[in-house]
Amino acid sequence: MGYIWLTDDDARTLMGAGQRIVRVNPPQGPRFIDSYTRDATGKVTVQTRSPKCPFLDSAHRCSIHQQRPLVCRLYPLALETLSNGAVAWVLHRNCNHVRKISADGKLDELLTQVRRVINAMSPEFAADLLTTYFAVNAVTEWISPADEREVTIVLEVRSAKGSSADSNVGRQL
Ligand code: SF4
Repeated sequence: MGYIWLTDDDARTLMGAGQRIVRVNPPQGPRFIDSYTRDATGKVTVQTRSPKCPFLDSAHRCSIHQQRPLVCRLYPLALETLSNGAVAWVLHRNCNHVRKISADGKLDELLTQVRRVINAMSPEFAADLLTTYFAVNAVTEWISPADEREVTIVLEVRSAKGSSADSNVGRQL
């Protein structure tokens, strides 16, 4: 994905630490890490695919590890919009850790743990998160077909028809 979206807490933390963020469709639109969303000319865009994160240091480590946004903390778990328009929690299988777990025959165990994490989210937190994600989703691309082949759907939170399911109920797959 070509951008890092931010929750309210992420935005507060990063701004408090002097980091730059950008808001699309102000004053209420979704927020992103600033330079992660700029193209080669410096124009803000959330359509650039796979730009280098500005916080990745020369040793390929996160230079804001303690303050990294929620989407980075959750990875390889992520909210994604699938090619049929459904929104789901997915597990990215191209993550090196997931590959190793999978090679060890423990992917099902991991999926069980991941479902427990999702189900343990408070209704308020889950609702806030989905509200933010839907605002992000309105201005960004859906997952690419190639990336979609590399994910396992864990929990569907909006149906393919786009009717918004109760954000805290979802459909476990
Ligand atoms: S973990 Fe750090 S370096 Fe990686 S995408 Fe997130 S903010 Fe950028």
